[in-house]
Amino acid sequence: MSDTRSEGRAQAPGFFRFGLGSFEVVPLHDGVLSRDRPAGFVRNASDAEVGEAFATAGMPRDKLTLTFTPLLVHTGRQAVLIDTGLGTAGPAGTGRLAANLAAAGVSPEAVGTVVISHFHSDHIMGLLKADGTSAFPNAEVLVPEKEWEFWMDEGRAASAPEALQAQFAGARKVFGDRGDAVRRYGWGEEVLPGITAVKASGHTPGMSALEIASGDEAMMFVADITNNPVIFARHPEWQAMFDMDPEDATATRRSILDRAASDRLRLHFFHAPFPATGFVAKNRAGYEFLPALWE
Ligand SMILES: [Zn+2]
Repeated sequence: MSDTRSEGRAQAPGFFRFGLGSFEVVPLHDGVLSRDRPAGFVRNASDAEVGEAFATAGMPRDKLTLTFTPLLVHTGRQAVLIDTGLGTAGPAGTGRLAANLAAAGVSPEAVGTVVISHFHSDHIMGLLKADGTSAFPNAEVLVPEKEWEFWMDEGRAASAPEALQAQFAGARKVFGDRGDAVRRYGWGEEVLPGITAVKASGHTPGMSALEIASGDEAMMFVADITNNPVIFARHPEWQAMFDMDPEDATATRRSILDRAASDRLRLHFFHAPFPATGFVAKNRAGYEFLPALWE
C-alpha cells in the first residue's frame, strides 16, 4: 500500500463542450479565487444574513469564492472568445485560460475575435501576455462603446476614487496602445453573425451581455449580472459591493433572469461554478440557478 493522496491541489484541465445549433460552445476555466468575504459585501443586507444565505447554499459562511469562466464559441467560420480572465498578472490560482484553451485543442493564433463584456480586470487582463504583447495576435478585439467611453476618459481616470484607480489603470494597460485596432460596439448590434450585444449596465456603466443564436437554439453570456448566481439569483435585490450603479444593476439582473426563466433560455454566468452554464427558474422570492447537466 502507498499514500495515493495528491501532494499539490492540481485539477484536470477545465473545458466543457456543448452544441448550440451549428455552433460549438466551450466554457474555459480561468481559475478560482477564495478569500475572506469582505464586510459589507452586500450593501443592503447584513453580513449575518449574507453568511446565512451562503451556508444555506452549502458554501462556507465567511468566505467569498469566485470562479472565472470565459466562453469560446466555434461558429464554423471562426473561433470567438468572450472575455479573457485575469491573465498572467492575477493572483495564484488564476490565469488558467491559456492552458485550458490549449487543452481544448485551440491555439491562441486561431482565435479570430475576442469580444469583451466589460472592463473589469478579470475580464480583460487575459488579452495580454506576461511581456505585454497580445495573447491573441490574430484576433480583432470588440469592446462595448460605453465601457470605452467611461474607462478610457482621461479626466475621469485622473479624478477617480481610489477604489477604482486600479480598474482605470488596467483598462489603460490593456487598451492604451491599441486605439484604432479595437472595434467598439453598441447595445442591440449584431457584433458577429449570430452574436448580438444586449444592454446589461449597472455592474459597470457599459456592460454588455451577448446573445448567441444558431439555427433554432439560443443562449446568453450574461457576464456579471450576478456575482455567484447560486446566491444572487435567489436574492436578485441584493446589491453586491462591486456593482457600480446598484439600482441599475438590480433592474438588469431582474430583467434578464425573468426573461431567461420565462423562455427557458440557457445562460452562461462568468462567475457561476464551472462550467458556469445553466438555466434559471422562478422561486418564491427570486430565481434558482439550475446548472446544466454534464453531457
Ligand atoms: Zn467579473
